[in-house]
Amino acid sequence: MDLGIKGKRALVCASSKGLGLGCAEALAAAGVGLVMNARGAEALEGEAARLRSEYSVDVQTVACDVTSPEGQARVIEAAQDVDILVTNAGGPPPGMWSDWERDDFIKALDANMLTPIAFMKALLPGMMGKGWGRVVNITSQSVRAPIPVLGLSNAARTGLTGYVAGTSRQVAPHGVTINNLLPGIHATDRADALDGGVSAQKGITIDQARAERAATIPTRRYGTPQEFGATCAFLCSQHAGFIVGQNILLDGGSTNLTM
Ligand code: NAD
Repeated sequence: MDLGIKGKRALVCASSKGLGLGCAEALAAAGVGLVMNARGAEALEGEAARLRSEYSVDVQTVACDVTSPEGQARVIEAAQDVDILVTNAGGPPPGMWSDWERDDFIKALDANMLTPIAFMKALLPGMMGKGWGRVVNITSQSVRAPIPVLGLSNAARTGLTGYVAGTSRQVAPHGVTINNLLPGIHATDRADALDGGVSAQKGITIDQARAERAATIPTRRYGTPQEFGATCAFLCSQHAGFIVGQNILLDGGSTNLTM
């Protein structure tokens, strides 16, 4: 399917690996020029070079922590005229409700709620001025059904979801859509780290930990960054202009919901 966005320009935050990279690659395959960001320059430059050569698109890179005010300023400067924004950053650590202090909440809110809001505030006016824009926020399945050990993530991402619900209706008259993509378990470094923790805790191999977890998902497998990226690119396409303020769950059916 021709997504109809060839020649547009996108900022994809936290995109040297995992789900962010899946989104960047699917957009590059649709002919979209990129501003890519990640903390480490080496992996970022490597992936940027690969996407330039495989898809013949322009790719700029900004290596920085996207949750810091300085990092945000640098990324926003490079991405002033983008048509598409994909927000992403690492998730907060797991723990117990009784562990977390105010500072832990502030850090999680900064990374997973206020950072995407800062990018939207900076870049929505340019999109609205052009009468066309797409925003996709990578959040989590924990927004639909809480993951108790991820209380910081549950809290911060639900705050972002509430913000998007209202804001998406305010910008839609200007041809700009905002939607959220909610990953369940996907095969990325983060999933490897979680499986590594289970393997150490239970004294089983990482492959066994992965097989146990995959058995809890109706598809009996993890999602892939490529599948995730393809859905993101569709939401950024010309065909998705009537999809506004939605939370799209990509979890292989593992969140047990009727609607
Ligand atoms: P990942 O660890 O595989 O990739 C992380 C990428 O983000 C890397 O490129 C890294 O450099 C970059 N990054 C992380 N923090 C950053 C920061 N502060 N500034 C700039 N770049 C940063 O992670 P992933 O699995 O792709 O997950 C992406 C998001 O989706 C995370 O917020 C994660 O919590 C959430 N999520 C993932 C899953 C899953 O199964 N993978 C499930 C639910 C939610």
